[in-house]
Amino acid sequence: MMENLRISGKNLGEFALPEFCPRCAWLKLKTHNRLPYQIFPGIFSSIDSYTKHVVHGWIDKHGDLPTWLYKLGPIIDYIPPPHHSQFQLELPNYGILLTGAPDGMLKLVDGTIAIIDYKTAKYTANQDKLLPMYEVQLNAYALIAERRDFGEVSKLALVYAEPVTDAETAAQPTIHSPDGFAMQFSVSVHPVELNMDRLAPLFIRAREIFDLPTPPPGRPGCEDCARLHSLLNWIPR
Ligand code: SF4
Repeated sequence: MMENLRISGKNLGEFALPEFCPRCAWLKLKTHNRLPYQIFPGIFSSIDSYTKHVVHGWIDKHGDLPTWLYKLGPIIDYIPPPHHSQFQLELPNYGILLTGAPDGMLKLVDGTIAIIDYKTAKYTANQDKLLPMYEVQLNAYALIAERRDFGEVSKLALVYAEPVTDAETAAQPTIHSPDGFAMQFSVSVHPVELNMDRLAPLFIRAREIFDLPTPPPGRPGCEDCARLHSLLNWIPR
């Protein structure tokens, strides 16, 4: 019997990156994405979560989106983002359980929904390189949302919140409070094309790599793998 493969929308998105490495993908799939020596500061997800509270708090109070998100609307409400245990989809044809945790789901006036993902980052050339991953991630969320009856999805968007850190802003008296200081964020919204058809070839590729009994070769020319091999000479067997 086929072993079920559990994969998040974001990890599936890595299969769409130009620098995709099958060996890294195999290792991540086999270790359930818990690779050793990975340190990721939690502050970014805290700020993403804060952004979500800011948006929901505004909608609760005003019944509409804040001005900086206007291009996503008009809306009638938001859907409280489901816990990841409630936002997953069995894909029996591929033996895959697709999972996700959308940052934001907005109910639009036409009855459809918009799914958004918050990024605490400046929109730079490097972010641009990661765009294929984020596009797949959001389309995976759209697939889960529609198949799990959250509603018809009509819009996807990335919302970048860039910290405003220049010296002039930092010198403003308004940023100070008795117990600390505030940081301002500048927001830009990037629409993402809704195209769930692009997911099927990635499901097939993920399944193929997961089913390999041993890790496939890495990305040609990857300096990290060369370093790892040289390190192995130092490890006693
Ligand atoms: S080739 Fe590079 S990216 Fe691939 S497994 Fe090796 S270190 Fe990772």
